[in-house]
Amino acid sequence: MEPRSRRASRQKKSDNNGIGKIAAVIVVSTLLIGLAIFFAINQEDKGAKNASEETKKETTPSTTEPTKPSSSEPQIELTEIQMLVNKEHGLDEDYVPPDLIVPKIKFVYQTAEIKQMQRVAAESLEKMFEAAKQDGLPLAGVSGYRSYKTQKILYNNYVKRDGQEAADRYSAKPGHSEHMTGLTMDIAGYSGKCAASDCFHNTKEAQWLKDNAYKYGFILRYPPGKEEITGYKHESWHYRYVGEPLAKFIYEKQITLEEYYETYAKK
Ligand SMILES: [Zn+2]
Repeated sequence: MEPRSRRASRQKKSDNNGIGKIAAVIVVSTLLIGLAIFFAINQEDKGAKNASEETKKETTPSTTEPTKPSSSEPQIELTEIQMLVNKEHGLDEDYVPPDLIVPKIKFVYQTAEIKQMQRVAAESLEKMFEAAKQDGLPLAGVSGYRSYKTQKILYNNYVKRDGQEAADRYSAKPGHSEHMTGLTMDIAGYSGKCAASDCFHNTKEAQWLKDNAYKYGFILRYPPGKEEITGYKHESWHYRYVGEPLAKFIYEKQITLEEYYETYAKK
């Protein structure tokens, strides 16, 4: 009895081994088929993606409306408020922004013209200054709107003082200053110390503005490391109003207004 049962159990064992081998073969081949299918689908998916990118590329140019962002980006309505003024894009000599008012803030200088901003920007600036004050960092306005004539005088003086090449890195030719839009304000700390100077870069006020301005529709227009794109060296004090949706977008993407127009807004 004993040997038989032992044999039987051995037999059973070898049967088990047989079934095990078959099962293993099935598992392995299923796996291989699965993998093959997976790769096939994956390839197809890639192909489809490439194809859709291809069609996207084909359909985007020139057919879309000018100054409209692409459909994959949040729709930002582009008006005069988002206008691009730089070394390439200038304003006519007789351009005067609409609805210029003087925001109710402290100013470093008392020249009437340069205190002005377009109303929509001025009202947002007041809110931003109030918020900074609440955070213990009161601010002061340095320079807002500048007419073509004022910019001409300024620029010519800078050229006389530093030479044209140097002046072009920090000052704009008349018609090409963003200050002429009435949407820009140079901002300093309440004392006015370091107004429109590099020593403003490392102040708490500059940091606060960098972190919070977008909430009020303003962007740091000439950020560090973007001189090649903006044409200007870092200006921690120069803020430009573009409206909240675009300011937030530019802040989050860490881009400049030039890059926005180049990459996201359709020409
Ligand atoms: Zn400025």
